[in-house]
Amino acid sequence: MVYFDNAATTAMSEVALDALMEISSNQYGNPSSIYGFGKRAKEILEKSRRIIAGCIGADPEEIYFTSCGTESDNWVMNQIGSAWNSGVTTMIEHHAILYPAKKKAAEGYNIDFLPVDEYGMVKEGAIQKTLTGEPKLVSVMLQNNEVGTIQHIQNLAKIVHKDNEKSVFHTDAVQAVGHIPIDVKTLGVDMLSASAHKFNGPKGIGFLYIRKGCNLQAFILGGGQESKMRSGTESVASIYSMAKALEDNTTNMSTIHANVLLMEKYLLESLKREDIQFEINGAGDNRAAGILNIAFDNFDGEGLLNMLDMHDICISVGSACNSKSQNRSHVLQAMGLSDSRIDSSVRISIGRYNTEKDIDILVKWIKKYRDITMIADL
Ligand code: PLP
Repeated sequence: MVYFDNAATTAMSEVALDALMEISSNQYGNPSSIYGFGKRAKEILEKSRRIIAGCIGADPEEIYFTSCGTESDNWVMNQIGSAWNSGVTTMIEHHAILYPAKKKAAEGYNIDFLPVDEYGMVKEGAIQKTLTGEPKLVSVMLQNNEVGTIQHIQNLAKIVHKDNEKSVFHTDAVQAVGHIPIDVKTLGVDMLSASAHKFNGPKGIGFLYIRKGCNLQAFILGGGQESKMRSGTESVASIYSMAKALEDNTTNMSTIHANVLLMEKYLLESLKREDIQFEINGAGDNRAAGILNIAFDNFDGEGLLNMLDMHDICISVGSACNSKSQNRSHVLQAMGLSDSRIDSSVRISIGRYNTEKDIDILVKWIKKYRDITMIADL
């Protein structure tokens, strides 16, 4: 199997796997139990919180464990109607933000969906226009999952806070955490979502950073775990594994980043060498390393995906099968791409474990697809 869908999920790192196994086998106590075995599980939980906080410049009490990025995002958007009666988000968010935002809009709350430019960037003027002096809940993703655009979060958060000091700024950083340096204080955000399986940790675990003093309502009520904010017995093994994965990716960030960039360069050069015609969607200055949304000349994106799949090579497309017109990527549409360009696009996302050999295999089959398409066109 050759894997180029690292924006969808990643392989677990060795340290994350070891951590998961060790705690699952030896420290399966309930952290709420008051005997020693439970207390030791609680210590591992708090150690994990400290590790994660340290990786993003937060205080440990500001980290709340959740089951995934989707849960963290939903927790935030569900606050509309409590301290904040209106919200602002963008047209290119993940559905974990978009759908709850649309639900709030359907319930009658005023929600603005900001447009983006051809690179997928939110303009400062666009956000400014939506601000009215009322306290708002604003959510803008840090790094887009389809095209890799990295927003100027620090500037956007400043604009929002300047408009009203009671306004809060959330960023969905699911694609960014563990890949680019993040400091919540420097970013100036009040909340930040992350998910372990995007940074070589296990699935089914994530966290939400909530700045001290930013008074969110609890998301799940029950046994009072996570400072009564998110009840449910904590998955200590997954949490520790997530912490070790993040620590490992953060420690090795510059090496991993350099390798991903090298692989990306090698892929683009190999495509050019084979005279395969393509353009990168959203190829601005602020694209994350490793997320390549590529429009191939005269290709059918789904056709390419299916052909690669027959050879056990994994990539993705913005439009999910069946009915293209209904499922075309909302991100590429918001960037103003034509339907035909969207249909010829695929996402190739490179991760820390990809090698030149993987790329040689990928390019070999892309070239075969191009050759078949050319014959079919004759
Ligand atoms: N936000 C972004 C930007 C994502 O890319 C994803 C996953 O693809 C999510 C949220 C949802 O994360 P999870 O799969 O952990 O629920």
